[in-house]
Amino acid sequence: MKKLSIVGNDLFLAHQNPPGHPECPERLINILEVLKSSKLLEKTVPIDTRPATEEEITLVHSKPYFDMVRNTSGKEFSQLDTDTSACEVSFDAALAGSGGLICSVNNILSKKIDTAFVLARPPGHHAEHDRAMGFCLFNHIAVAAAHLLTNCGLKRVLIIDWDVHHGNGTQHIFYDSDKVLYFSVHQFPFYPGTGSLKELGYKDGLGYTLNVPCPSMLGDEDYLRIFTEILRPVVEQYVPEFILVSAGFDAYQVDPLGGMLVTSQGFARLTRFVMQLAKKHCQGNIAFLLEGGYNTAEMGLIIQSVIEEILDIKVSDTGFDFKRTTCKHTVAETAKTYSKYWSF
Ligand SMILES: [Zn+2]
Repeated sequence: MKKLSIVGNDLFLAHQNPPGHPECPERLINILEVLKSSKLLEKTVPIDTRPATEEEITLVHSKPYFDMVRNTSGKEFSQLDTDTSACEVSFDAALAGSGGLICSVNNILSKKIDTAFVLARPPGHHAEHDRAMGFCLFNHIAVAAAHLLTNCGLKRVLIIDWDVHHGNGTQHIFYDSDKVLYFSVHQFPFYPGTGSLKELGYKDGLGYTLNVPCPSMLGDEDYLRIFTEILRPVVEQYVPEFILVSAGFDAYQVDPLGGMLVTSQGFARLTRFVMQLAKKHCQGNIAFLLEGGYNTAEMGLIIQSVIEEILDIKVSDTGFDFKRTTCKHTVAETAKTYSKYWSF
């Protein structure tokens, strides 16, 4: 069985937004209950984690922004953005999220574990270089990617972002770099407004921001088709050394914020797909980070399906039924736009 670490932390549960906010501890409580009752937690391998350091966070965030978030520490409530706030422990929770992912990738590189899933709150992919946004304080996936490049000597990191929202923060942080290939499939137009086919990267990074803006109501077959026809050929040309997955689950068919139709089985198939890419191109080096996903009653079932896939308890089919896809136009437009940089 694969050696999987599920990285949790009491701080992830302690981070609080105002009452009624969709990004609430119940998201995680439900996940942890299901992982316990299904006995999946017993099949995982614990690793030691630590908070990310200031040096690590400022690989991607500005020092004044880091200090601003640090300043919220110990204060009952700090509003950072229209929908983003911090409580007494949010700064520490955000450090634990980035640190948890850094420790995960270190343990994967040293072969102590095969893979990890970091169940972080607050999430990260909307956090920009110098500001909080969209429930996110520090951009964990960007911090981990920068750590892999700066501290581990890697030269090509692939970030796969299947959250229903575009990861504006991650895109912007690596916009002019060819050392990080950022792939995002997201509902568009939608929050946060970025992620169009006009945003392709800049300078050395041109072509390395791979956006697939999608209409709403796409389902499992569509996602698999986009992964097969857009992501796979690019990954075969890019040959990443590590894959980081911004695993949001708000493209779920009954998510209160998203408008997609992906099922828990669909997320399992996407998980199998990205693990196959990692196995083929980078010795299986892959780590997962929880981003969005707001159906508090069903988050556990979705994650159970994904964890069973990671552990090879289930082996899902990664093919897709062409006749049941409606994303033909999206795929064609995306391939046409990026054909200057990649062959499809
Ligand atoms: Zn989201």
